Amino acid sequence: MDYIVRAVAANSQIRAFAITSKELVETARQHHNTSPVATAALGRLLSGAAMMGVMMKGEKDMLTLMMKGDGPINGVTVTADSKGNVKGYVGNPNVIIPANYAGKLDVGAAIGYGTLTVIKDMGLKEPYSSQVPLGTSEVAEDLTYYFATSEQVPSAVGLGVLMNKDNTVKQAGGFIVQLMPFAEEKTIQILEERIGAITSVTDMLEQGMTPEDILKTVMGDLDIEFTDKIPTGFSCNCSKEKILSALAGLRKEDLDDIINDGEEINVKCDFCNTDYKFSIEELKEIANNR
Ligand code: ZN
Repeated sequence: MDYIVRAVAANSQIRAFAITSKELVETARQHHNTSPVATAALGRLLSGAAMMGVMMKGEKDMLTLMMKGDGPINGVTVTADSKGNVKGYVGNPNVIIPANYAGKLDVGAAIGYGTLTVIKDMGLKEPYSSQVPLGTSEVAEDLTYYFATSEQVPSAVGLGVLMNKDNTVKQAGGFIVQLMPFAEEKTIQILEERIGAITSVTDMLEQGMTPEDILKTVMGDLDIEFTDKIPTGFSCNCSKEKILSALAGLRKEDLDDIINDGEEINVKCDFCNTDYKFSIEELKEIANNR
């Protein structure tokens, strides 16, 4: 069962999140039939977004992260709510590229140079939107850069997805550790040393570490206190009714064109890859009910 833990440390000078996300990333892989490098890219962004989602305070707040680059994956888009639900997709799920110099899945090259856009819809008139250039395009570093520049919160982000030989997901997870504005120099120094000393997220997961263990390892002696444990999963809230109301919102001429073509249509939900079929009779009914 995937979950996120929330914690504070060093008398609340630090706040931290960690996630185990193997099942949700595997569910995403099955929905989209992604190649290993696409699974890694999507899985890292889903894992980061799930933790960033639960940072939001409102019940109905929604977070969208879009990594758009010039690489062959043709973009990664992920949406999270504040309750641990995430969904997402990549532009090209079949992308296959050579491993990087370290023999690892080359997420950075798959995404390429471009931008990270963060949109938070908190029920206000205008959603909050911020864009930063992609650095390594390895996802964790790009989220770190976003936190530092757009939110002015010094952060350390670690994300990892490891595949089995049969291309299913073996491990997935991550952490986000953030310094509060009143953090003391000594705390910062200890934390930097700890983070410099840890191995990769996938190494820690391979050793059997839970999200709690990962944060304890990162924090060391900084007096960690766990404050919340939140179930997380891949979940899409699309339905035939929702697509139907979107079709009902089309211009009359466009809907008539579709009906006059005389063939049933397929409408695909990008986020979960589910196909919804509409017969001519259903389309006529939509047109008549407007
Ligand atoms: Zn869907």
